[in-house]
Amino acid sequence: MTVDRNQPNPFSRRRFLTGSVAAAALIATGCSDDGPNRTATGPSTSSAAGRTTTSHAAKLAGDPFTLGVASGDPLPDRMILWTRLAPDALAADGSGGMTADPVDVIWEIAADERFAKMVDNGVYTALADQGHSVHVDAKALDPATEYWYRFRVGEWTSPVGRARTLPADSPRRLTLAVANCQMMETGAYAAYRHMAEQDLDLVLHLGDYIYEYPGVPGARMSQPDRAIVNLGDYRLRYASYHLDPDLQAAHARLPFVATWDDHEVANNYMGDVVPASPTGADLDRKAAAYQAWWENLPVRLDPPDGAVLDVYRRFDIGNLARIHVLDERQHADLPPCRPEPDNTTDFGDCDARSAEDRTRLGTDQEAWLAEGLAKGGVTWNLLGNPVVLAGVDAGAPEGDPAYYLDVWDGFPQARQRLLSQMADSANPVVLTGDYHQGMVLDVHETPFDETSPIIAPEFMACPISSVLFSQDVTGRTPHLRQQLDNHGYLAVEVTPDQLTARFQVVADVADAASAVTTAATWVVDAGDPVTRQV
Ligand code: FE
Ligand code: CA
Repeated sequence: MTVDRNQPNPFSRRRFLTGSVAAAALIATGCSDDGPNRTATGPSTSSAAGRTTTSHAAKLAGDPFTLGVASGDPLPDRMILWTRLAPDALAADGSGGMTADPVDVIWEIAADERFAKMVDNGVYTALADQGHSVHVDAKALDPATEYWYRFRVGEWTSPVGRARTLPADSPRRLTLAVANCQMMETGAYAAYRHMAEQDLDLVLHLGDYIYEYPGVPGARMSQPDRAIVNLGDYRLRYASYHLDPDLQAAHARLPFVATWDDHEVANNYMGDVVPASPTGADLDRKAAAYQAWWENLPVRLDPPDGAVLDVYRRFDIGNLARIHVLDERQHADLPPCRPEPDNTTDFGDCDARSAEDRTRLGTDQEAWLAEGLAKGGVTWNLLGNPVVLAGVDAGAPEGDPAYYLDVWDGFPQARQRLLSQMADSANPVVLTGDYHQGMVLDVHETPFDETSPIIAPEFMACPISSVLFSQDVTGRTPHLRQQLDNHGYLAVEVTPDQLTARFQVVADVADAASAVTTAATWVVDAGDPVTRQV
């Protein structure tokens, strides 16, 4: 398995203190690693920095590990290990209660939960301009192997996280959960509690990890109480979410592979246009949102460059599956029409809809995806596709068709190009979020044309907690096989012969202790894109 894009080393730009007391002590334990996330010049320059972990730690207001730990972007031989220092998680300025000083964080990864069999360790210097986030790339790991990790600063030790590297070669099985849309005001995270109890290779997060709206007083409320616009606001909002114990449990137990949708910036933003912002093109807000997303997710990516952060990437799981993780916001053209103030639905009078060629993925990502779908070598091609691809007619009150143009329905030419590429690829399966419903759809080579071939199934994961759409579209979307008006997540199991998708649904989204049960199970056989319920 590889991250099949030429990523610059995310640690190459970072500053690492040399020769702190902590680093010297760690090296004395006999661990060796010449990777770039280690002290660059070794212990012999111990006086160069003139700072120690202890001196930084002494300035902390308290336990800095309130936001938990996470792993992400697993490969057969490496794993991102994440935390973010925040002794006062809900400090109003978004600083987490940290000063501007850098802080040395000791990281440890072991083959056992008690850390008796240390595999590697090092010191990572958390910086204020990166929100005191930590993104360690732990390397030289074994495939399909369970590891435990933790962080230490001064007297404080983080919770222990567990992660498993991905299998290599010819794995017999891949298991993942698909998560999306987790507004914390509208529901608890029973879905994450249940997910954390499962044995899964990874969690594919398709976006709306946070919402940018004002925090709403209620059973629980995110901070701040206003719409978030600047970096401090976004950092504070992420901190609110990361405090949830069930989300923390899922992160501590399962590696995440995350992309984003619109609410990581603002509702229905597309390209550089942020509809709810006063100017409509608020690049400062977008840059702040991207920076905070990067700081708060366990991703193997460089930090953003202003309002630019390429998050599309793919993962090969041996010869079993390739996961194409897509970004369908940053590089997209505007939808064909967008009546004031922010109506993105086409009620039939949007003449430009079929005329222009608009891009959804952007030129570079589109070419990259085409190449990845064409290159073969795997049984399954899983598309981590934030917004619905197959087409949904939500229906206008007068009985006319109604298409939401912020999904692929607003980008018919780009969709047609993608569908053609998918039709030529091995066993494409579309995994989708955004719609606040569960759905099973047949993806036809020509959307809404029942006579055109079915080229893939599309499984739309239920939202974790965001308010349900609850509009029955079954009568208007003939290729819709099932619609679920539930919260939860999608559990996917992939073998060389079959893919199984289970809709895990929450009985009471207001209750973190709610039961979670399987509401529907669908299978698709390798070689046949027509899915069936079992
Ligand atoms: Fe959402
Ligand atoms: Ca969305």
